[in-house]
Amino acid sequence: MHQDTLAGLARRLAAREFSSVELTRALLDRAQSLGKTLNAYITLDEERSLAQAAAADARIARGEASPLTGIPIAHKDLFCADGWRTTCGSKMLANWISPYDAHVISRFNDIGAVLLGKANMDEFAMGSSNENSHFGPVRNPWEVSRVPGGSSGGSAAIVAARLAPAATGTDTGGSIRQPAAFTGVSGLRPTYGRVSRYGMVAFASSLDQGGPLARTAEDLALMLNVMAGFDPRDSTSVDRPAEDFSARLNAPLEGLRIGLPKEYFSAALSQDVATAILAAIEAYKKLGATVVEVSLPNQHLCVPAYYVLAPAEASSNLARYDGVRYGHRASEYSDLLDMYKKSRAEGLGAEVKRRILVGTYVLSHGYYDAYYLQAQKVRRLIANDFKAAFAQCDVIMGPVAPSVAFPLGSKTTDPVQMYLEDLYTISVNLAGLPGMSIPCGFGAAGMPVGLQIIGPWFEEARMLNVAHRFQQVTDWHSKVPPGVDA
Ligand code: GLN
Repeated sequence: MHQDTLAGLARRLAAREFSSVELTRALLDRAQSLGKTLNAYITLDEERSLAQAAAADARIARGEASPLTGIPIAHKDLFCADGWRTTCGSKMLANWISPYDAHVISRFNDIGAVLLGKANMDEFAMGSSNENSHFGPVRNPWEVSRVPGGSSGGSAAIVAARLAPAATGTDTGGSIRQPAAFTGVSGLRPTYGRVSRYGMVAFASSLDQGGPLARTAEDLALMLNVMAGFDPRDSTSVDRPAEDFSARLNAPLEGLRIGLPKEYFSAALSQDVATAILAAIEAYKKLGATVVEVSLPNQHLCVPAYYVLAPAEASSNLARYDGVRYGHRASEYSDLLDMYKKSRAEGLGAEVKRRILVGTYVLSHGYYDAYYLQAQKVRRLIANDFKAAFAQCDVIMGPVAPSVAFPLGSKTTDPVQMYLEDLYTISVNLAGLPGMSIPCGFGAAGMPVGLQIIGPWFEEARMLNVAHRFQQVTDWHSKVPPGVDA
C-alpha cells in the first residue's frame, strides 16, 4: 500500500480494496521502523490516528467520502492540532499540548483525513538542514549520512521514504522546496495569503506560508484543494473564489514561455545541478515550451535582505516564549527577570537565539533605518524584478538549491554557509510568490536534484499543470531511495 501515490490510494480506498484502518496501521508500523531510523517524526499517537481512520471508514461506508477521506497525512510539527503535542522542534514547547486546531488541520479533519503523526523540523522552522531540531537531525532516505534539507526535513523524508503519501510543510525562505529537492519529492509553496496561517506557529509572519509535499504534482493539487481557502482568522488570508487545482493538470504546454534568469546560472551553482536543470528545460522544449532569458537584477540582495527581515520578525514573534504563559520554565530563578532569562536560555537553541539577537539588533533605535528599512526597500525591488520578468514569460525555472543534499555536520559550524543554501528560494518568499520543486534528475553521490518552478501570484493551477506534464514524460518522481522497499 505504501508504494502508492495519494491519488492511487484514494481510488483504492474508494473501491474498498482496503480500509483506512488497514492503511493507517501499515503506515504506523513503517513509522515505528524506518521512521525511527530516519528520525522523521517527533510525535506519533496511534490511538488517535486509528480512531480517525475508523471514523473515516464509517464515512466511506455511508457514501460521504471526498478524495482524501481516510488518507493518512503527516503534519509538520508547527501546525497546532487539538490534543496533540505541538513542539515546533523546540525544547521550549517539548511538552506543550495544543488546545485547538490550526486552520489547515481543521480542513483535513473536515474531510476525514487521518493525522498520522507530527513531523520533525528545524526549531521554529529556522534552518536548511533539519539539524536544528531539539529532537535530533532527520536523515535523508537516499543516504542516511546526508541531510534531508530543512526546515520541513521530517515531512520531506516521510514522503520520500514512503512513510506517508503526503505531508504538510511551511516555507518562509525555502523550507518546502529545498527539502523536497534534497529528497526527490514534489513540494509547493503557495502564494502568500493562499493558505491560512491560523494555528501555524509563526516564524516570520510576512514570509510564512503553509503548503504540501507529495510525490507528484497531481497529489499536490489534491492537497492544495484541501489546504487553500479564505479564513477570516488570518488577517492576510486572501478572499478569492474557490479553485479546483486539479482541473487544469492536463492542459497542453504548447506556447508556454519559460523564463531562465541569467543570474541563476553563475559560479554559485554546482555543475551537476546545472546539468540536471538544463536537461529538464530540454524536456520542456519537447513539450512545446519556448525559453526566454530574463533578468532578476537584485538577486544578489536576496540573502542579505532576508536575513535582516526574517530575524526581525522572528525576534518579535518569539518574544511570547517567556516561561509565563506556556512552554518551558526554568526551575530555579531569583526574580521575574531572571525567570525570563533562564527560561529562554534553556528553552531555545543556538540558531534561534542567533536570529533573536540579529532581529533585535536590526530593529533597535539607530539601526532600524540602516538595516530593517533598507531591507524592506530591497524587498520591493525584488518583487518589481519578478513583475518585470513575468511580462516576458509565464513561469520562471531554475535550481532550488546550489548543490545536492550535503553530509550531516558539514555546515553546522558556519551559519553563513547554511544561509547561502537559500540563494535560489528566498526571493520567492520576499515577493510573496508561489514556487515549486519537482524531481528532475540526480547529481553528485546519486542524490536527487529539484527543478524550481516559480509562477506569478495565484498561478498555482498553471504551475501544477506545468509540473504534471513533465511528470507524465519523465519518471524522476517515481524513483525510490535505495534502502526503501518499493
Ligand atoms: N532556511 C531558511 C531559514 O533558515 C528558510 C527557513 C524556512 O523556510 N522556514 O530561515
